[in-house]
Amino acid sequence: MTEPAERKMRFLYGLRSKGVTDARVLTAMERIDRGAFVRGIFAERAYEDMPLPIACGQTISQPSVVGLMTQALAVSPRDKVLEVGTGSGYQAAILSQLARRVYTVDRHRRLVREAEAVFQSLGLTNITAIAADGSHGLPDQAPFDRILVTAAPEDPPGPLLAQLRIGGIMVVPVGQSDTVQSLIKVTRQPHGYDYDELRPVRFVPLVEGLAQD
Ligand code: SAH
Repeated sequence: MTEPAERKMRFLYGLRSKGVTDARVLTAMERIDRGAFVRGIFAERAYEDMPLPIACGQTISQPSVVGLMTQALAVSPRDKVLEVGTGSGYQAAILSQLARRVYTVDRHRRLVREAEAVFQSLGLTNITAIAADGSHGLPDQAPFDRILVTAAPEDPPGPLLAQLRIGGIMVVPVGQSDTVQSLIKVTRQPHGYDYDELRPVRFVPLVEGLAQD
C-alpha cells in the first residue's frame, strides 16, 4: 500500500503528463479527494486514471478527462456554473473550488442524494444539487457563465445554448452514444456561437426525462 502523500504526488504527476497544466485546476484536484466519491471495492482504485462504476449503472469520469474538461471551461472565481450529470459529485466538487456557485443536476435522485451527502461531509457549501432532466437546463437560475455537460447528447441541447451568458463557455461531449464522441467547446458571442472541437472522449449518453430512482 502506498503512502497517501506519495499516492497524491503520483496522481498529480499523472494529470500533468496527460496535459492538465493549469495551476488552479491542479490545486483543486489536489484538494478534492477522489476517494471520497468512489464506494466499495473500487475505492482502492480511486487514484488511478480510469473511469469507475458508481450507483445507478453510471460512471465517475477518468481524472485526466475531468482535469482537461475543467481546464477547457476556464472558470473564474466569480462564475456561476451549471453541471449536467452530477454522477458521483466529483466533477462538481472540483468546480466548487474554482467558481462562485455550482448548480449540478442529475436524472437519478439517488445520485443527487448521495453526492449531497459527500459535499456536506467535505464542507462544500457553494454547490446546489438538483434532481432534474438537465437537457432543459435550469431556467430559474439562468444565465450561466459556464456550462459543463458530462453525459453525451447527439447535439448541444438548445436550452443549454440559450442559458449561456454572452461571452460564456460550454464544454460538452457530442455524438452517438455507442461510438467515440467529440468534446466540443462552445463560446457564446453577441450574435451567435463559436464551436471548437477539442478531443475524442467517451461518456454515457444524455438520456431524456427523470429516472425511476
Ligand atoms: N460528472 C460525474 C460523472 C457523470 S456520469 C462525476 O463527476 O462523477 C453521467 C451522468 O449523467 C450520470 O449520472 C447520468 O445519470 C447523468 N445524466 C444522463 N442524462 C441526464 C439528463 N438528461 N439530465 C441529468 N443528468 C443526466
